[in-house]
Amino acid sequence: MSKEKSEEEKNFLSFIQESGLIWGPSPEIYGGLAGFYTYGPIGKLLKNKVENSVRSIFNNFNFREIEGPTIMPDIVWQASGHLETFKDRLIRCQKCKSIFRADKLIEENEDISADAFSDDQILKFIANKKIKCPSCNSNFENKIEKQSLMMKTQVAGHEASLRPETATVTYLPFLRYYNFYRKKLPFGVFQIGKAYRNEISPRQSVLRGREFTQAEGQIFIDPQLKNSWPEYEKVKKEKLPFWHYKDQEKNSSISVISIEEALKKKYVSSQAYAWCLWLAHTQFLEFGIPKDHIRLRQHHPEEKAFYAEDAWDIEIKLNNYGWTEVCGVHDRTDYDLKQHSKFSKVDLKAQRENGEYFVPHVLEIAFGTDRPTYALIDLFYDKKSIEEGKTTFKIPYHMAPIDCSIFPLMKKPDLVELAKKVKQSLQKEFIIDYDESGSIGKRYLRSATQGTPYAITIDYDSLEKKDVTLRDRDTEKQIRVPIEKINEVLKKLLSLEIEFVKAGKLVK
Ligand SMILES: [Zn+2]
Repeated sequence: MSKEKSEEEKNFLSFIQESGLIWGPSPEIYGGLAGFYTYGPIGKLLKNKVENSVRSIFNNFNFREIEGPTIMPDIVWQASGHLETFKDRLIRCQKCKSIFRADKLIEENEDISADAFSDDQILKFIANKKIKCPSCNSNFENKIEKQSLMMKTQVAGHEASLRPETATVTYLPFLRYYNFYRKKLPFGVFQIGKAYRNEISPRQSVLRGREFTQAEGQIFIDPQLKNSWPEYEKVKKEKLPFWHYKDQEKNSSISVISIEEALKKKYVSSQAYAWCLWLAHTQFLEFGIPKDHIRLRQHHPEEKAFYAEDAWDIEIKLNNYGWTEVCGVHDRTDYDLKQHSKFSKVDLKAQRENGEYFVPHVLEIAFGTDRPTYALIDLFYDKKSIEEGKTTFKIPYHMAPIDCSIFPLMKKPDLVELAKKVKQSLQKEFIIDYDESGSIGKRYLRSATQGTPYAITIDYDSLEKKDVTLRDRDTEKQIRVPIEKINEVLKKLLSLEIEFVKAGKLVK
């Protein structure tokens, strides 16, 4: 059984590497540094699709994108609390002195979250369950050490750090936004960009990198208006898979209830916050993650950051790692603006119509683009096709790295010329792969391995009848399409898929 699994893992890894998705840890020729990866040509196209989906969702719901620096002077990180508290808990092996992240060690051995455990609880748990050093199988030292996750540098002689999240950098220009939005709250901004964490022993591919891409949306809101959120009315009847912290304690299953009911039951604290949960859930559906692989997990009161009024994670059930956190939705209250007011000595306030000043609250939807990218690979890599001697990447069509392949049946000048013409007519709107070498069967196979939903073949009939063969990746069905209609047909086929996703009916 275990041998079978390692064979499966090996197949998956070689699929990721050979199809040009993810390479690393980088730099491979120097042995690799854990937590750093390179997206290959197909992986980068996929990550772009993920990021474009994020951009389109946030923009559609009136968030605007900004881009801040990735390095900030340390006063910023003192104010945000990162320098003081953003630390991993480590445990050291008595014998070989290797260090491990204590909470992850528990999660990997016992499949429970140890986020909320106190240091003492962690030590007791490791002793009771007799968890041993993964390197040499000895016992651990009976103490917890701490390591800062901040990556340090110096700029012009001043202490500075690389940002561990985009959020803080997004909060700092608050007064600029306030003026830009003509002093009217609420407004939303978002940022997609790199962040860095000096994790102790990152594994699990790009799920836990030391350098990663975050995508975080922030809403600045008057706390008095959290329960009169206009968008709420439109979504309140929609059902989401809530997993309340008390149900987690009892090991009960999730409750799929309407957003309205969740508010009534006090699962969530406000209309505006509930809407953020809905938006985050919608984003993951839009990525093409099947509905039954998504759940909303509430933080235990002890797991929650001290300033957070409400905190839920979105988790995705992966084939390789089980339920995995992919997004956090937080009501951060006025914590951030108050802290930065205190340290910068600049008043970060807004004004109500009656003249009253107040510190806005922040609602945050925090995720990254590496985990959704990985999730799409993990969930849609088709194990079964391997047994049939071919590898298929059955990613939802609208998220496929390449939209369509174009093949001249043979490398004959008139076929090549027409194929290139068709390519030219499509490449403005679609990502096209052109391939003229090898047998047509091998080219179909390569195209399916990269997840490309459609392949166009130009044959001798095409020269005469001015039409092409369009082949569907999953059904392997072929249709003839007039060359002048191919753009329109392709667009329709790819957007049809998006309609399915929107309806939550994705069953590819
Ligand atoms: Zn050891």
